[in-house]
Amino acid sequence: MTLPTSPSSLDDLQAKAAAVHEALPWIKRLSGCTVVVKYGGAAMGTAGFDAFVDDVVLLRYVGVDVIVVHGGGPEVSQLMTRFGKEPVFVDGHRVTDAETMDLARMVLVGRVNKTLVGRINTHGRLAVGLSGEDGLLLVARPRVDPGGRDLGYVGDVAAVDPTALRALTDKGLVPVVATVAAGPEGLPYNVNADAAAGSLAAALGAEKLVYLTDVEGLYADLADPGSLLEQLTVDEVEAILVGGQVASGMVPKLTGIVTALRGGVRRAHILDGRREHALLLELFTDSGVGTMVQAEEEL
Ligand code: ADP
Ligand code: MG
Repeated sequence: MTLPTSPSSLDDLQAKAAAVHEALPWIKRLSGCTVVVKYGGAAMGTAGFDAFVDDVVLLRYVGVDVIVVHGGGPEVSQLMTRFGKEPVFVDGHRVTDAETMDLARMVLVGRVNKTLVGRINTHGRLAVGLSGEDGLLLVARPRVDPGGRDLGYVGDVAAVDPTALRALTDKGLVPVVATVAAGPEGLPYNVNADAAAGSLAAALGAEKLVYLTDVEGLYADLADPGSLLEQLTVDEVEAILVGGQVASGMVPKLTGIVTALRGGVRRAHILDGRREHALLLELFTDSGVGTMVQAEEEL
């Protein structure tokens, strides 16, 4: 092997070493902790996806108990369309008749989940896929629409039993969770993946909850790119929810963050999952990216 000797390439190497070294205090802090990461359907298939998989593996190798929760809404809609069914949403919830539930379960558990598991496992025996129905990880109660509309098999998380997840993380494995929940009479229910991630993070006593989506973070005004909110408290998030400044996909993320932080999770982040290594940048460098929400008492 020949060692590079020119001063400029040595400087390059030094800079790389400094970048790795910068991660040391963060790795020390997070090693042995639990981090729940929700990867949204909106970021799937973007350039950030492969880098996300590598980041999850890296987290595992530095001793973080990482749990991946995934969405897949766009893929569910695609399959519905192929079956001649038109996706209908009420306040961001997909109206889910029995046939739609069947299709959603096929796509989320059979396809999206296994794609993630397969990609992570190119690095070795690490990922195990499961849905909320497995081990009664997520139990749903039917959601009642305030407008009286019939949402079908749409549920809210009523209970979380993280036993199965802990059994996996204790063995150094990475659980990958599709958020189909167990509903009444053993029937599958469609629960929002953001809400489920928040409830799981609280039940696991996670250190952090991270949402990876298709925007830089939370904007005060979605139409104004200069309005990214970098740091918030959980009270401020609640005020934003009450004020109705956020719409569509951001609402369940903010409610998930409130559930998690009120349930003891220290910090939550909303990051751009299209950006390569957004997760590493946030967790292991001094400069954060996206939106960070922290519990009040930390300030
Ligand atoms: P995911 O698949 O990651 O859950 P969603 O489409 O459900 O993605 O949610 C992210 C979307 O939330 C963004 O693409 C954006 O259009 C929408 N959104 C609504 N209000 C806001 C806001 N104030 N700041 C950021 N994004 C917002
Ligand atoms: Mg969403």
